[in-house]
Amino acid sequence: MWRFRPERKFHLNNVIVGGGNVAGGVASIVLGKAALSVLCVDKIDPLEEQIPSCNGCGGLIQERTAQTLEKLGVPVEKATRRKLDGFIVTLPTGEEMVVKTPMRSVYRGHGPLHDKNKKPGLDALILQTALKYPTVSYHKGKIVDVDLSSGKEALVYLDKMHEPLKSDFFVGAFGHNSELVEKHIKVPDGQKLDAPKTQKSTVMEIAVGDDILKKHFGSYARVLVLPYDKTKKDSNVLFVALIPKDNGSLTMIVMGDGDVTPEDTHKFISSPYLADALPNELVNKIRNTSLVKDGGCKLCSCSRNTITVASPEHYLISGMGGGIMIGDTGLTRLYKDGIGAAVTTAEAAAKAIITGDFTHYQRLMEKEFPPDDHIYADGFLRLNDAIIANSYLRNLLLAGKGIPGVSHLLIDPFMRHFLTGDVAYKNIFPHKLSEMLFQIFGI
Ligand SMILES: Cc1cc2nc3c(=O)[nH]c(=O)nc-3n(C[C@H](O)[C@H](O)[C@H](O)COP(=O)(O)OP(=O)(O)OC[C@H]3O[C@@H](n4cnc5c(N)ncnc54)[C@H](O)[C@@H]3O)c2cc1C
Repeated sequence: MWRFRPERKFHLNNVIVGGGNVAGGVASIVLGKAALSVLCVDKIDPLEEQIPSCNGCGGLIQERTAQTLEKLGVPVEKATRRKLDGFIVTLPTGEEMVVKTPMRSVYRGHGPLHDKNKKPGLDALILQTALKYPTVSYHKGKIVDVDLSSGKEALVYLDKMHEPLKSDFFVGAFGHNSELVEKHIKVPDGQKLDAPKTQKSTVMEIAVGDDILKKHFGSYARVLVLPYDKTKKDSNVLFVALIPKDNGSLTMIVMGDGDVTPEDTHKFISSPYLADALPNELVNKIRNTSLVKDGGCKLCSCSRNTITVASPEHYLISGMGGGIMIGDTGLTRLYKDGIGAAVTTAEAAAKAIITGDFTHYQRLMEKEFPPDDHIYADGFLRLNDAIIANSYLRNLLLAGKGIPGVSHLLIDPFMRHFLTGDVAYKNIFPHKLSEMLFQIFGI
């Protein structure tokens, strides 16, 4: 049978991958499988899991991401902390709604401080899988400059090394290191790379105990959606995800309208918003557990607490000596599913490097991570308040929730898309419906 084979425009045989977490690790696996020569460089050795007690991430992954990783040979089970059946969402009106979707929480980094039974993190397992391929190797080092301007080879300069490393192509998988993209990557004249727009969130791990988790979570994670009211003075918090893990611990991720500092999180914990949204017993437990002492994250200001709120427009210098930015350095899902997006972009980018054809990659990315998706994400946040303010719409939503047929058809699929990041914000509603809603509510 005739099969279409994309033209191999460039023969990129050896690649330097900057960053060895999810995105860098997945790219290394796919490139290694195709027998390309890969050097993965990271300033921290993910295999040693040196980040003391810091998770910096909720570690929540959708089952589709776990399956993709398993197909690539990563033993995700080893890093799995708890399998989950979906979300219990507390709406801004105080109502609860259950959204079913298979997912799991996984270890990243070292796991929580109080957990003596440490397991390998997901990132370590991914990199270990990549290193099974004979053409893949790892080097511990800090990338300080990258030169992609020659059109012949990519030059990668490491801290304390005089001579640059040379390769046919560079993969930028170094997370939210905007400074490196903006100031230290030299590109050919007339071309551009830019960094994502980001904001700070906080994450903390709280030892609430197994009984509390069993009683108030069961096999679900919880999401609290707060009003997106710009006039709200007492809290800038918009979304809170509570992810149950093993050993009675709970990860709390707090995202807001702008940066969320540890102080904002402490304020939120003692605010009426938390008390209104969760059962009393759970609220008391969260309030009375010493967060900094028991939390997995020391609430430092490291880039691990950074999330993307708008993806970069320019993320590729194609061709010999060029480079591509993936994972959090490139296109990602805004506010959520960063691990899933890192896996998607890394796998697709590696395939583009293997074929030497980036046109298909760009088309795919345009659909998966549209460059104007932040406008739609913002529209959804504001729609949230419009619905709270409009009693007719609110009643419709809440009435629909109680009627299985209506809820099943009209609400659940959209809520699932919104929470899981399986499609872009732009594609959650049929395009015409989004436009109509945004017009009606002046968004
Ligand atoms: C508070 C919070 C909670 C989150 N919760 C979730 C969640 O529950 N589920 C989910 O899917 N996503 C979550 N995310 C997002 C997720 O953590 C990221 O999207 C994901 O880690 C991106 O992977 P990456 O490989 O692109 O980047 P990273 O994981 O950031 O890895 C980048 C790597 O590059 C290395 N590096 C950086 N600079 C250099 C340099 N100069 N030289 C060499 N190496 C360098 C770093 O050491 C690091 O190992 C969360 C994020 C935050 C901030």
